[in-house]
Amino acid sequence: MLSAGSVDHGEVHMGVTPVQDTTVVVIGAGITGIGAAYYLRANGFPYVVLEANDDLGGTWYTQRWHGARCDSDFVKYSYSFKPHSSRQCLLDREDIHRYLRSVAEEFSILEHIRFETRVISASFDTDTQCWVVHTDRGSFRSQFLINGNGYFSLPYVPTFSGTDSFVGEIVHTFDLDAARRFPGQHVVLVGSGSTAICAAPELARVSRSMTMLQRSPSYIYEIDNRATVFMRLCQSLHTRGFAFPMRVLRAYLQARDDAIFVGFRTFPRIARWYFRKHWTGTVSPAELKEHFSPSYSPWEQRIPVAIGFKDAVRRGAVRVKTATIERFSVRSIVLAGGEELACDVCILATGFQLDFVQFELLVDGVSVDTAGINFYKGIMMGGVPNYFQPVGVWHSAWTQRSEASTRFAMKIMNHMASHGLRQVSIERKAVRYTPAITPNYLMRDLPELPRLYGSWELPSVDNLFRYRFEPRKLNFA
Ligand SMILES: Cc1cc2nc3c(=O)[nH]c(=O)nc-3n(C[C@H](O)[C@H](O)[C@H](O)COP(=O)(O)OP(=O)(O)OC[C@H]3O[C@@H](n4cnc5c(N)ncnc54)[C@H](O)[C@@H]3O)c2cc1C
Repeated sequence: MLSAGSVDHGEVHMGVTPVQDTTVVVIGAGITGIGAAYYLRANGFPYVVLEANDDLGGTWYTQRWHGARCDSDFVKYSYSFKPHSSRQCLLDREDIHRYLRSVAEEFSILEHIRFETRVISASFDTDTQCWVVHTDRGSFRSQFLINGNGYFSLPYVPTFSGTDSFVGEIVHTFDLDAARRFPGQHVVLVGSGSTAICAAPELARVSRSMTMLQRSPSYIYEIDNRATVFMRLCQSLHTRGFAFPMRVLRAYLQARDDAIFVGFRTFPRIARWYFRKHWTGTVSPAELKEHFSPSYSPWEQRIPVAIGFKDAVRRGAVRVKTATIERFSVRSIVLAGGEELACDVCILATGFQLDFVQFELLVDGVSVDTAGINFYKGIMMGGVPNYFQPVGVWHSAWTQRSEASTRFAMKIMNHMASHGLRQVSIERKAVRYTPAITPNYLMRDLPELPRLYGSWELPSVDNLFRYRFEPRKLNFA
């Protein structure tokens, strides 16, 4: 094993391309990859992070549309080893990006990241018990692979008829920059998920008119974004060196998320009543029924968290329409039923195509089909040795599980180092999987997704009971 943090450059030559050796290759410098790098450093494992972009941050670097922000309390979404203090609960993407950069700087992670280096394939060889990772900038060899490539790559763009004759612009939020202004232009924002709810009030500020066009309504929960007195107290004690109150705060926030999730799923009628009360007084009963009463129950799909959305709707700055797009005409969108919406710019907040493994994955030269693969505790895939892919839960802050599963990987790696073991795996087998939530974007790609098991999908209990390391449950060699 090389010394902590080092990569041996060009020590081995395969053909003409030098292969760089290290113990762990991490793919992606988003919140998952940076978190993995922190734990690798803390446990003394040499590593390199390969990042396709020219900066770190992943989602929080690439999503630049108006109003891009998180909808998890950032004090809980930030890492447990560096909880973030702020007067605001939810942070915008620039603040999150700054935070991730500060983590990478503070823990000397930055110098381990190879930017503009896209992984093309990663191949495990059971004879050498090593990975060889091919990128567009050379190859790397390592004992372990940690995949933090995120779960989406390309934007999802539905097809509409009549777009050829439309003289306005159609742009996906993925390609939209918040610096753009739309003076004198009618903007139609298509979507009803978190992106649309974050973007709508901000787009209303910079356009002549803003209509949010949704095929079907979502449950929307408006918050006052100010941190509570309890939060500020815990944060203040944390900055004075008392770490415990912040740990309590984070545990409380996670337990609250999980309790609401379970409570809403168990008592859907009470949950629906709760949302009706939440919107009563902002919109008329008819509007409530038409635009804010989904056909499904709360937490069957992710619940967008709004800031300033209610006010924008009340003032008429954001107009909500619930209808299906029939076609585009020259200067408008024609809805099923015949109504026309004037439209100069159509912004698609229609989400992404899910893609859990964004490079070719091979074991002994055979390409691994990850569609429907068994995915143990959101970290190990069936039949893929020495491979870890930490993922979050759908209903709460990503890091609450991605960190726990990364720590689980460290326990395995430490066990292997101390027992002279070179290989760990779980068997490939068929498992049943019902996702904890069932939004369209998940259901669309469900057959392609890994099948998660070994977790209750509730971080507050999983993190206590499910990430105990039991060597007998894994296959070592
Ligand atoms: C607008 C928006 C708001 C969100 N809000 C929340 C929220 O409030 N709470 C929450 O928990 N989650 C939220 N999410 C989900 C969010 O994506 C995850 O929380 C988290 O950021 C995932 O981090 P990641 O590092 O795994 O993936 P990403 O952030 O997607 O980063 C993956 C990185 O891997 C790199 N990469 C990919 N493929 C390769 C390759 N082949 N070679 C090299 N590098 C590669 C990418 O360039 C990228 O930098 C939100 C997502 C969006 C889009």
